[in-house]
Amino acid sequence: MDLALAAVVFAPGLALGSFLNVVAARLPLRRSIVRPPSACMSCGQEIRWYDNIPLLSYVLLRGRCRDCEARIPPVYPAVELLTGVLLAGCVLAFGLSAEAAVAAFFCAALVAVSAIDFEHRIIPNRIVLPATVLVLLANTARDLSPEWIVAGLAASGFLFAAALAYPAGMGMGDVKLALLMGVALGKTVSVALMAGMLAAMIPGIFLFARHGKKARKIGIPFGPFLALGSVVALFWGHGILDAYLSTLH
Ligand SMILES: [Zn+2]
Repeated sequence: MDLALAAVVFAPGLALGSFLNVVAARLPLRRSIVRPPSACMSCGQEIRWYDNIPLLSYVLLRGRCRDCEARIPPVYPAVELLTGVLLAGCVLAFGLSAEAAVAAFFCAALVAVSAIDFEHRIIPNRIVLPATVLVLLANTARDLSPEWIVAGLAASGFLFAAALAYPAGMGMGDVKLALLMGVALGKTVSVALMAGMLAAMIPGIFLFARHGKKARKIGIPFGPFLALGSVVALFWGHGILDAYLSTLH
């Protein structure tokens, strides 16, 4: 049953991913996300409706503009697929519930923030701050507990201390993203931070192997790793936290 529901949610998830692509492309440039309609970045030709079907159009056009044959960046279908999978995952994990709705909204915000941070090295306040307020209100209404705000403040405080200690590695955008993560995840935000930092070490080690000490000067955007950690915590956080806490007894 849940699997069928998840399959049904996948298609609107792809469409939402398509919208998140527009947000990620236009929001950092302070352009409207409603108008004008999408156009080819290379030749400016407006994209026809039948060339604007998430995922499918990219495959049928073999990743090129119908008019000028410029390459369509593979990040577009990747964002669509990722959003579809995450939304299906939310329904699979939480059923048709308020929890699933909050989780899906949180995932959408993470995808948009990651795409923007990856491309522009900024974590936009205009997504993170309203999303934090909405998610905090929704989670508190769903489950009246100080856990959400406490986890948010603890996570952002932790990254704030890390940013002070190592200013090259993290920015205030990451600190604000941690606030959103905390109010969305509650206590499992600890799993998200740990998983995010572990994942960020992988390209860190790779860069160090390739560039030696100069690698310290090459900044990598931390937002996508925090987002990855958040997804791990959202779906598996309670299990990981329980397993970790049981090793302490
Ligand atoms: Zn074109």
